[in-house]
Amino acid sequence: MENEKIRVRFAPSPTGNLHIGGARTALFNWLYARHYQGTFILRIEDTDQVRSTEAAVNVILEGMKWLGLDWDEGPGKEGKYGPYYQMQRLPLYQKYAEKLLKNKKAYYCYCTKEELTESRQKQIKEDKPLRYDRHCLNISEEEKRRYEEEGRKPVIRLKIPAKKIVFNDLLRGEVNFEGELLSDFVIVKSDGIPTYNFAVVIDDALMDISNVIRGDDHISNTPKQILIYEALGFNLPKFAHLPMIMGSDHTRLSKRHGATSVMEYKEIGYIPEAVVNYIAHLGWSSGDEREIFSLEELVKEFSLDKISKHAAVFSIDKLNWFNSEYLKKRSVDSLVKMVIPFLKEANYIKEENLSPVKLEWLKEIIKLMQGRFKNFSQFIDYADYFFVDKIDIEPQAFQSVLNKEGISDILKALKEELSVLKCWDEKSIEDIVREIASSLQIKGGKIIHPIRVALTGKKIGPGLFELIVVLGQEKTIQRLEEAIEKLKVAETKK
Ligand code: GLU
Repeated sequence: MENEKIRVRFAPSPTGNLHIGGARTALFNWLYARHYQGTFILRIEDTDQVRSTEAAVNVILEGMKWLGLDWDEGPGKEGKYGPYYQMQRLPLYQKYAEKLLKNKKAYYCYCTKEELTESRQKQIKEDKPLRYDRHCLNISEEEKRRYEEEGRKPVIRLKIPAKKIVFNDLLRGEVNFEGELLSDFVIVKSDGIPTYNFAVVIDDALMDISNVIRGDDHISNTPKQILIYEALGFNLPKFAHLPMIMGSDHTRLSKRHGATSVMEYKEIGYIPEAVVNYIAHLGWSSGDEREIFSLEELVKEFSLDKISKHAAVFSIDKLNWFNSEYLKKRSVDSLVKMVIPFLKEANYIKEENLSPVKLEWLKEIIKLMQGRFKNFSQFIDYADYFFVDKIDIEPQAFQSVLNKEGISDILKALKEELSVLKCWDEKSIEDIVREIASSLQIKGGKIIHPIRVALTGKKIGPGLFELIVVLGQEKTIQRLEEAIEKLKVAETKK
């Protein structure tokens, strides 16, 4: 391996989002390149002109950047192998198609859709294998001219040799295909645009790709591509087909299983390093117990022989676990920085730049909540009471915890005491709450729950006394007054 220059690529079609599966392919190629000090190439396969969009290209580029997967060659990083958009490489595909036509390894086909359907139906009737009947393989120049005069636009088909195709997949070992089962497939469409299998081979060969690492959904394309390599006299790269990623119900991962696009995870508020760390485990493991790896550690540890041959199962719980681990380890300052865009989005912060006082306060909130939320959207849900003027008390919490005999009196007593409290710290607040509890001869827990619901609207949250400190005197008093009022209204309705 040492002498060989590793060049790998991620070659997405910009027809939608960057999905978890694509991100995994990108990551594994990236790790492979970085591990062997090779080159990682990003190539945009945009030949599907109906479905490819610039927006999708941008989403892919953004997603890659967010995950920290930088490319050495590709969009914005033109190298000597460029361009890196297939639609900018059409003359190359044309050149090689012509070469194949000249060598009689490919031929023009003028058959119409109707003719192809008719031929297929005949094959079905006669119980023959379904493949192109080679009607156009040996047509005369005269016939070609006639078809052209009719206005038919030909495709170019590869003439498939009847032979076994064998390749050694780096993950699966020897893979065999019966060439005879293949049809003379189209390599250039009637509009002059190459098909995926043709363009990918030209590009991989001209870009000196040493290893093609991609999803196993492409395994049936590989024999076709090998035939093109051979027809053109190109050297074969090594192939590795990654096992499928499935949802929890063991069917191929799709939208039904929840968020599958990388940018959705950014929007929900996951930490990119955690997402990368999780995606790395979709089919790969270090071989020991460790699960948490920095990008540098992954680069060091990564190798193809640690990739499982079995399908990987995507689990949102596991991703959440990774994210929580990263959240726990992050410094409060960095979490503050990360949470601000989410607070702005929720309209909880309106100013462009936060004052030092407000930043300090935000830090206190983060300290209080760290370890209690799985992502930043969840933080916004859990900690909303710090940011809004008026809280909505969860109806269930109101009924089961607040709307009870004697609670109003507790809240009133607390309000009286806290209004005049000079020293707004945890100890003084705790003393007051405990005093009220003992004077009313009730247990601490019995008094703590209703106070929490009155102040936050929720039944769970961080420790009550620290929470009250951060909430501040003014908001605490106001919330207590509002809860007392709500209880009064509920009382009149009884
Ligand atoms: N454009 C293809 C895809 O997105 C690339 C497949 C390959 O890596 O060869 O599936």
